[in-house]
Amino acid sequence: MALTITSECINCDVCEPECPNQAISMGEEFYVIDPARCTECVGHFGEPQCVQVCPVECIPVDPEHTETREQLQAKYERLQLQALPRTPIG
Ligand code: SF4
Ligand code: SF4
Repeated sequence: MALTITSECINCDVCEPECPNQAISMGEEFYVIDPARCTECVGHFGEPQCVQVCPVECIPVDPEHTETREQLQAKYERLQLQALPRTPIG
């Protein structure tokens, strides 16, 4: 499952730089997680890094984005491929 940030967020800025997938960004009122980029840190770390650092514990799993560990691993691999520099053609 992707994680989500609730309105309890105090915009402390601590989680954003910890995300290995650049899934966290400032939303309209508080930080948000892009479910297309959150792998629950699968592929990078054993534990979700944002949850580890959040001082107010406002990052639960997102029940609207249910994924198995295998799906999270596949998302991680897709993101890694996208991050590779493209070879110019011609
Ligand atoms: S669980 Fe990991 S990948 Fe997902 S938002 Fe938090 S730090 Fe980023
Ligand atoms: S660490 Fe928690 S409180 Fe701080 S910006 Fe991230 S979600 Fe919000």
